[in-house]
Amino acid sequence: MEKLSDELFDLLKSAVPLLLEWYGVSKRALPWRGAEDPYRILVSEIMLQQTRVEMVKGYYPAFLEKFPTAAALAAASEEDVLKAWEGLGYYSRARNLKKAAEIIAKSGFPRDFKGIRALPGVGDYTAGAILSIAFRKPCPAVDGNVLRILTRLLKSEENIDEPKTRKLFAEALRAVYPEEAGDFCQALMELGAIVCVPNGEPLCPRCPWEKICRAHLDGQEASFPVRSEKKERKIEKLFVLVLEREGKYALEKRAEGGLLAGLWQFPCFGEEPPDFGKVACTKRAKHVFTHIEWQMTGRLVRAREFFPQFVWADREEIREKYAVPSAFKAFFEWIGQD
Ligand code: SF4
Repeated sequence: MEKLSDELFDLLKSAVPLLLEWYGVSKRALPWRGAEDPYRILVSEIMLQQTRVEMVKGYYPAFLEKFPTAAALAAASEEDVLKAWEGLGYYSRARNLKKAAEIIAKSGFPRDFKGIRALPGVGDYTAGAILSIAFRKPCPAVDGNVLRILTRLLKSEENIDEPKTRKLFAEALRAVYPEEAGDFCQALMELGAIVCVPNGEPLCPRCPWEKICRAHLDGQEASFPVRSEKKERKIEKLFVLVLEREGKYALEKRAEGGLLAGLWQFPCFGEEPPDFGKVACTKRAKHVFTHIEWQMTGRLVRAREFFPQFVWADREEIREKYAVPSAFKAFFEWIGQD
């Protein structure tokens, strides 16, 4: 396996104490900071996958109030779990978290990398983060953020979209991991989140590595990280019908196996929908997923009858019981929800 040159390795090593010192004084107060219960750390790490901290801050305390232990989550119905996850996106995470809770409730929380990595929904990064934060073991957690800050620090031209780059930096980090494993892991994430930010300008004057960062010293922060070209998103056109009759609204369950599987939605059609009644309002909206963009035409329709192919629910029932993803948020106002 490739290794960092001695020079770069020494630079990385010298960056560790600077980062820890900075983290000690600059870290944000976040609801999951200081948690010692591995279940709570698991919940925060799963929520933080592909989701902004600001958003997770709102969900994490409420989710834990509802499901304070792995046993509580294991015993809950999938519908309840999806409802608590509503709006956070990437719903397979919620299902996997519930499955992981079932395993933990039965056999206890695994304490080594292999066991944690085997939990549903847990990849190398999350397993490394949990092991470092919950069990203070030196296990690198390397995601795009960590790769961004390290390739800038070392001015490394390795393509961060290639798995070998992740391996290279994971091994280099493993060799410099300090005793404060949990703090170090979180400090790397924190630097990537609030100082060495993606896109735009990194905030180098606030960075503990300002005087040693090779990309910064050469004025080339913007050239790193090196990435593969992005694939274009696929555009899907969709008609979304908010069918209303006597204060009830039609819902249907999305098919298993695809995008937003098993969640509830207003009836959707890939082409001009059948005539269900009188159209009262029309509105366009779009929602961007990682690889797909939905371009939606929404219609509020006064339905002629309670069409039996749908479930009919009033706004309270929808709020309480049915998890409708935020992709449909633009149309919530038609049913009196934010
Ligand atoms: S000095 Fe600038 S580019 Fe380098 S790690 Fe810090 S914020 Fe990122």
